[in-house]
Amino acid sequence: MGTFTTGPQLLRTTSHSSSLLCAGEQAAGVVKSQPEYEPRPQPPAGLPADSVDRNDVGLLVQRVLNGGPRPTDAELREALESQWKPDKQSDYPVSYHRKNCKWRCRSLGPQHLQQFEWLAVSRLRGVNGAWCTFCALFKTTKEGGGRAGMHGIGGNMTMGRLVNQPLRDFSDLTGQNGCLNRHAQTEFHKACAIRVA
Ligand SMILES: [Zn+2]
Repeated sequence: MGTFTTGPQLLRTTSHSSSLLCAGEQAAGVVKSQPEYEPRPQPPAGLPADSVDRNDVGLLVQRVLNGGPRPTDAELREALESQWKPDKQSDYPVSYHRKNCKWRCRSLGPQHLQQFEWLAVSRLRGVNGAWCTFCALFKTTKEGGGRAGMHGIGGNMTMGRLVNQPLRDFSDLTGQNGCLNRHAQTEFHKACAIRVA
C-alpha cells in the first residue's frame, strides 16, 4: 500500500506509443483503464532489394515506376514466366481491418494467384504488395491508373492500386465487387492483356 503515490509509472520510457499498449502489456493493477482503441497491427514491412528473390516482380515494377530503362522483351518474358511466388502463407501480404472492436487480418493467398494469372506479389520495400503484372509492366501510358472517374474507361482507385501502386488492402478481393474481379474487367487491363498475348 502506498507504493504508487504519484500515480501510474511510465513503464516504457522509450516507446513513443506507450499509450497504445495492449492491456496485457501493461503491468496488472498499475493501469486500470484500457486504451479505447487497440493499436492496428502492422503488416510486415517490405524487404530491401538485396533480400528479395531476383525474380521478385517488384524489381522490374519499381524500375518502370521510376522511369528507368524500359524493360526489354526478354525481361518481360522472364518476369512473367519465372516470377517469384510466395511458397508459404506468411510470405503473402496482409491487411488489418477493424470489425466489432477487433482487428481482423485479411490476406492474399495462393488461390488468388491461381485464379488471376496476372496477379503477382512483391516483397520489395516501397512496392511490396500485390500487382497486376500485365498492367504494371505492359502499360504504355499512365492513364487508367489514375483516380476515380478519369478517362472514363474504368480508371479507378482499384486500377491505380494494381497498376501504379501496390494493392495493400485485401479485405474485398473477389466476388462481384471484389477489386481483383473489377480490375480484370477494366478496358485498361484488357488492352494490356492483349499486348502480353
Ligand atoms: Zn491489369
